[in-house]
Amino acid sequence: MITLKNLTAGFLLLITSVCVMADNAIVVGAGLAGLSAAYELEQRGFNVTVLEARNRLGGRITTETNFENGQIAEGGGELLDHVRIHPLMWHYANLFNVEIDYIGYWGKIEEGAYYLNGKLFPYNSFKRELGLEKKKEYDDFHHALANLANEIPNYSDPTTAPNAAALDNTTVQEWIDDLNLSADIATLAAHHIRGEYDEPAALSLLFLAHQAKVYEAAGGNEVEIARFKHGGVSMAQGFANNITGPILTNHAVTSISERKGQVSVRAAGTNFKADVVVVTVPASVLNNISFNPALPQEMVNAANELNYGSHTKVLLQYENRFWLEFGTGGDTISDLPIGWTWEATDQQEGDTGIMISYTSGDYADAQIDASEADIIASKREQIEAMYPGSDALFIKAEVFPWHRLEYSMGGYAAYGPGQMTKYWNTFRKPHGNVYFAGEHTDDKFIAYMEGAVRSGLRIAEEIGGPAPNVK
Ligand SMILES: Cc1cc2nc3c(=O)[nH]c(=O)nc-3n(C[C@H](O)[C@H](O)[C@H](O)COP(=O)(O)OP(=O)(O)OC[C@H]3O[C@@H](n4cnc5c(N)ncnc54)[C@H](O)[C@@H]3O)c2cc1C
Repeated sequence: MITLKNLTAGFLLLITSVCVMADNAIVVGAGLAGLSAAYELEQRGFNVTVLEARNRLGGRITTETNFENGQIAEGGGELLDHVRIHPLMWHYANLFNVEIDYIGYWGKIEEGAYYLNGKLFPYNSFKRELGLEKKKEYDDFHHALANLANEIPNYSDPTTAPNAAALDNTTVQEWIDDLNLSADIATLAAHHIRGEYDEPAALSLLFLAHQAKVYEAAGGNEVEIARFKHGGVSMAQGFANNITGPILTNHAVTSISERKGQVSVRAAGTNFKADVVVVTVPASVLNNISFNPALPQEMVNAANELNYGSHTKVLLQYENRFWLEFGTGGDTISDLPIGWTWEATDQQEGDTGIMISYTSGDYADAQIDASEADIIASKREQIEAMYPGSDALFIKAEVFPWHRLEYSMGGYAAYGPGQMTKYWNTFRKPHGNVYFAGEHTDDKFIAYMEGAVRSGLRIAEEIGGPAPNVK
């Protein structure tokens, strides 16, 4: 029988469920983690406001378009793995019609060259130039690296590995030293680790083993094979176009306080209120935000200590693609401080070409106070040394020194010695109604765009459950 009491109860239930549907969420940071969290929270019925400190979206993905011939290059995150390895990035790109290009010259030309001891030679001449023994030694180094995966039973919690503590307290440099490599191969080994993550002496061996585990089943032709045709910015914009709530740039969050389940977030002189907040800023800048109640000491320490790789990308445009005349596709593995180079424009029109230089670890830190002009001059000089005659073709360059930029203060998370066993789960624990996302909070693809979007989806599911349209 329908009574007034029943009706009132039903009405109250309806109001409550409408309120639940209309919970307010604030997302701090409009990088890929923040944008994916915002999109996924809206799918779950939340009203979302995104607060971003910078004057643009994308965070550590940013596309530089200030080049001749309409050419573009990525200042930050760039390369995607095969859909089998990075499924979520491809899923969102597909969902938002963001175009992806496969990269490289695909068998038309040797991909790259080594520059060692003052000599440039293509990848396929390694044996001829350095001898069979060194070739075998270098192959053995890569096998030893891959075999580190065997140390980790399960990527999702490397701290349960039988030798976790010992591995975590060993630096990657110590591990390289123990391999007793000859000087050239030790240089190449250190160079490889530095470019991927950070200085080998700054890295935990357990972190390297975790990365090996994550990539255990990936084939060589599945890794770093694609990039966004219209730049990473098109991916960030793809998310933004599909988020209904406001995305406010120039809104650096300075404080977050929670009282009786309501969270107040202060940014750009305004207080924003929400039921839940998702903080996606890199750990390296988390302590710039003041929290009330204060964050647990473990998280404050983790944010202060977590190692981030130092990486500077310089994008250099030249009048032509001189590397093709040297018979290679522009990749260079060099023993010079410049580190790696590769071409950004292999899929782009025009005679001009953009070469990226990627300087990491101590070599990036050595230029921490250098002016942009000095950084560019040093890269040009080293490229000229490797590819004589190139400097006469130089047009312009743009510099992205992520480890000294206010809202990143680092390239990407790369756990240091002792940090995996201490802080592995720290950033996955909520603080009241405040949750944390970002590449550094992912348990799989730490340091990757895939890790950032995985973390955004994870947090939306944790807060709002599975999306209603997901069966
Ligand atoms: C040089 C470089 C090369 C890379 N190459 C690759 C690659 O080839 N492939 C790959 O998969 N990944 C790559 N990455 C990693 C990838 O770019 C990152 O993992 C990913 O973009 C991180 O996304 P995020 O949302 O976690 O963090 P972010 O992109 O850093 O987003 C966090 C956002 O928070 C904002 N913020 C900070 N403080 C505040 C505050 N107080 N208030 C409000 N907002 C704030 C920041 O401005 C930023 O927009 C690279 C990164 C770098 C730096």
